[in-house]
Amino acid sequence: MMVELRRAQEMLLERTNRMIETEFISLWDAVNRVLAEDIYAGHDQPPFPRSPLDGYALQSSDIKGASKEHPVTLTVIDEVDAGYVSRACVEEGTAVRIMTGAPIPDGADCIVGQEDTDYGEETVEIYEEIQAYENYCYAGEDYKAGTKILEKDTLLGHVEAGILASLGVEEVRVYRRPRVSVLTTGDETILPGEPLGPGKIYDSNLYTLATRLTFLGIDVIQRDHVDDDSGAAVKWIKANAEESDIIITTGGVSVGRKDIMHEVTERLGCEQIFWKILIKPGMPTLCAQYRETLLICLSGNPFGAAVNLELLVRPVLAKQTGRKDLELKRVSAVAENGFPKRSGVTRYVRAYYEDGRVRIPEGSNASGILSSMRGCNCLMEIPAGTVSVGKGDRVWVVLL
Ligand code: AMP
Ligand code: MG
Repeated sequence: MMVELRRAQEMLLERTNRMIETEFISLWDAVNRVLAEDIYAGHDQPPFPRSPLDGYALQSSDIKGASKEHPVTLTVIDEVDAGYVSRACVEEGTAVRIMTGAPIPDGADCIVGQEDTDYGEETVEIYEEIQAYENYCYAGEDYKAGTKILEKDTLLGHVEAGILASLGVEEVRVYRRPRVSVLTTGDETILPGEPLGPGKIYDSNLYTLATRLTFLGIDVIQRDHVDDDSGAAVKWIKANAEESDIIITTGGVSVGRKDIMHEVTERLGCEQIFWKILIKPGMPTLCAQYRETLLICLSGNPFGAAVNLELLVRPVLAKQTGRKDLELKRVSAVAENGFPKRSGVTRYVRAYYEDGRVRIPEGSNASGILSSMRGCNCLMEIPAGTVSVGKGDRVWVVLL
């Protein structure tokens, strides 16, 4: 059954559920993971009032009218570095030498920066008047004990990792990631590391797809290659389906003599979801359900495989994880250069988007060409029936 892209996406999403299983993981592994619990602050941050400066903790009432010409002299009764606590109590006429991050001693209500003093050790001359609670960081200024700091379903990044660490949290409960296996097929493809024989090419899809998924924060559990041998593909899929939420294959979905994936899905007894999408590249894409696993069989063309990973698989991963950042974003842009070819079906062309403008790179953009995809950050969407895109035309762009 041949479908429009939108329908193909819907059909896959109809079979997709949000993941509910959770796991407890180290904060070190938490980036790109989705929090499965609310996080409350167990203590004030900072836990004590602290000095924002290197200077002197004192009573503001002592330094009324102080200036370079009329300094006020105070007795230095203690000194305190960050990480230590002064037992001294600042009283009238006294000061404690204090470093940035150190707890403000009892009795003091402000910190005078050392630049506004004579840096005295026994006694200190203060050259500036400041008000009570100036240069004073309150306990709980960042957040108070008991505050909900992070909501369940938050996507964790480096800032959240820092916040959790500042709470003393080492491990967090997150949703498990989708488990995806990637299988490339083709008699002609050889894995890097092996010698390249006549008629052979190296397998790039396995790397493009698996590394892209890893980059997106997905758990790639298997990656492998088989020849155009339906028996081998059937065996591999059977062996890996139970563990995999999604199996992505490339190659063998068209109508050539060695296009084995039709036979593979039949032999597996899969329910076919669709075969062929009205887009270019990736028209022959075949999707099927094998037991609990979605089987997404992409065209072997490197650009076609890469594009359809974005257009078909990403929305599924977004729904499984609840991650909004994985949803496809479309923006409108002005074409900086034209695309002269007629597009019978909706066409996706590699391009570079910046500040409302989109540019197609120099060189071939045929679906077998990967190199000109370097540096591209979007796909220009050219609607079915477009005769050509002209410079200055307004187009839709799918951001990658
Ligand atoms: P297919 O989808 O099997 O008809 O392959 C389409 C084109 O993509 C052919 O030129 C293949 O040689 C090429 N191709 C297939 N699989 C890969 C792969 N894993 N890496 C790079 N190119 C591939
Ligand atoms: Mg092939």
